[in-house]
Amino acid sequence: MVRSTASRPRSFAPPDIGETIVAAAKRLPPAIFGTARLLEYAIVDNSVVFTGRQSLFVDGKLLGAVPFLALCRDLVSEEINLFHCNLRWKVIGVSGGSTIVGTKELAERAYCGISTKWTTSPYTEDQVVQQLEKTWGRHRCSFCQKWPWDVQQIFEGPRSSICDECIGSFAKILESNR
Ligand SMILES: [Zn+2]
Repeated sequence: MVRSTASRPRSFAPPDIGETIVAAAKRLPPAIFGTARLLEYAIVDNSVVFTGRQSLFVDGKLLGAVPFLALCRDLVSEEINLFHCNLRWKVIGVSGGSTIVGTKELAERAYCGISTKWTTSPYTEDQVVQQLEKTWGRHRCSFCQKWPWDVQQIFEGPRSSICDECIGSFAKILESNR
């Protein structure tokens, strides 16, 4: 019987999860991470070499190799984030830059060979919006439907929310009706 070396668990796989990176790799990353939208993701398989050439600290400790990386664009800041994730796509650390190319170069410095591993997000626009709605729907303006990151401020009531722009518009209407 031929055994594939690729199915061997990596040293960084948390022991409590008890699953190999190959099995875990079938699990897709989420469409959004907080307010960041997934653009591309990469799996750190056996052909990728972790060089340690990154200074990413998490809780005061230098972060080592992770099995999954997610390249995202933050909807609020527009920044490109590189999320360093565990086998369940839970974010352990964040790095990144202002461009996709620059952020991929950062990733390549720390993970030699990762450049060829990037996979485009499989999610359609509708799926992204659905996911955003699930997470952020409650925080949308109930009147103009804008997302919290598209306005300066959102005021939330128990059942609905209103943004600063709508308050401004309504104030003008009230003013002109006086
Ligand atoms: Zn509004």
